[in-house]
Amino acid sequence: MVRTIIGRRVAAAVLAGVLVLVLQSSAAVAGGGGQFGPGAAGIGDVYFPLAGNGGYDVRHYDIHARYDPATDRMAARTIVRARATQSLSRFDLDFVGMHVSAVMVNGQPARWTRERAHELVISPARGIVEGRRFVVVIDYAGVPSTSGVPGIPGLKTGVVPTDDGAVIWGEPEVAADWFPVNDHPRDKASYAIHLTVPASLQAISNGRLVGTQTHGGWTTWSWREDSPMASYLAVAAIGRWDIRRRTGPWGIPILDAVDPRVGGAADHALGMQGRIIRFLAANFGRYPFRDLGAIVDHADLAYSALETQTRPLYDGRLFGGQHDEFVVVHELAHQWYGDNVSVNQWRDIWLNEGFATYSEWLWNQKLGFDSPQQISDDICSGIPATDPVWQIAPAAPGLANLFSGPVYFRGAQTLQALRHVVGKATFFRILRSWAIQHAGSTGSTSQFIALSERIAARQLDGLFHDWLYRHGRPLGCASTAAARTNNGGLSIAPPATRFLVARLGHRML
Ligand SMILES: [Zn+2]
Repeated sequence: MVRTIIGRRVAAAVLAGVLVLVLQSSAAVAGGGGQFGPGAAGIGDVYFPLAGNGGYDVRHYDIHARYDPATDRMAARTIVRARATQSLSRFDLDFVGMHVSAVMVNGQPARWTRERAHELVISPARGIVEGRRFVVVIDYAGVPSTSGVPGIPGLKTGVVPTDDGAVIWGEPEVAADWFPVNDHPRDKASYAIHLTVPASLQAISNGRLVGTQTHGGWTTWSWREDSPMASYLAVAAIGRWDIRRRTGPWGIPILDAVDPRVGGAADHALGMQGRIIRFLAANFGRYPFRDLGAIVDHADLAYSALETQTRPLYDGRLFGGQHDEFVVVHELAHQWYGDNVSVNQWRDIWLNEGFATYSEWLWNQKLGFDSPQQISDDICSGIPATDPVWQIAPAAPGLANLFSGPVYFRGAQTLQALRHVVGKATFFRILRSWAIQHAGSTGSTSQFIALSERIAARQLDGLFHDWLYRHGRPLGCASTAAARTNNGGLSIAPPATRFLVARLGHRML
């Protein structure tokens, strides 16, 4: 808690200082009488002060990237379509690593500089008037695997070479490693992703496969995701894939790309995707996207799995055991909570992970094993109050603990505590309302609390404070922990022990 408050003050002070300095030097009168000024270098995230930018709203990214696994070299052009939310003398895109060779704004060459390793600062030939749409074209090339976006300390994210190609994925920051971007969930956009790879390989991404074209030994794979998407959810997976298509519930096309070396190990779990989204939709409301599927790679990935929009990416080693579909439940639950409704601040990450973990608990019960209440009770009684894990507050975990166990299991316990107090019907009404009211956008912890109080028609801030912000085991544990002492252990579908694994510090996204 202390860390968060200090971080916010420092970030705000730094940003304010930068703004004042630049405004004084470059302010000019815009056509409408307003002032042209620079867009902010950050969108205002407490944990990631340089993530995202201010002054504009991206509507669409058109990414054309050629990648050669033999050299790890990428050459690309990205077209950014945006609207100015202030009159801009200059603006930033987030971009690390690769060499920029040209920038055009509205068809005219623009000047650019690279600042603080993370910012591509673009000065258009003419200022951009507030409210106007503008188009930025950036040409660049390099070896992106040698850079790396700032993110969670110790975790390599971004463009990660594999033995047959590369995967581009990560959380919270990955996009800036391969395209210039307003890199924060608050600025969602639609995407057209064109990946050009040697003709012997295939390239998988989000949404729908629009087509492929082969010329001179290279094949371009064109994908479209029309639903608003947070930048970290844009995925590229280049390699050899067994591509399988079928039609899922409600006519939704399912496209899975499975590394042939995974063999049939993932078949059971992937075959359950339709059943799983039916189950999740029955609890959370309509499936939010037009496409569905999976990418299963045979590679040693930093994360076990990630909820890349419409097509989560899985480490093939997750599959093959009994009830291995739990990870699919988790990542598909993120399509509602994480992808369609995204975090407003990365500090709000429990709104993604707590919900996805809770979905696993619902699935656990559906299979005839312990209920969410029983699981929550057993966590309370199974982890001593003196365990330092209770010191991490899920809604203010601190940057270093962004993906720590409590964000997952205590986040899910928070939801169960809410359900226990407001009742099942009201609880699921809250979850469905959350998915509808923030669809295609973001939500914050305070907004979730306010929505819960409104729908339940009662004050709940004490409950949320206890479960989300208290440094120490929640007081709410005491009322239930005694009720279930040693009963011979949890009744969890093996190997659905993700929350216990998470407690030990492993990252399960
Ligand atoms: Zn997750």
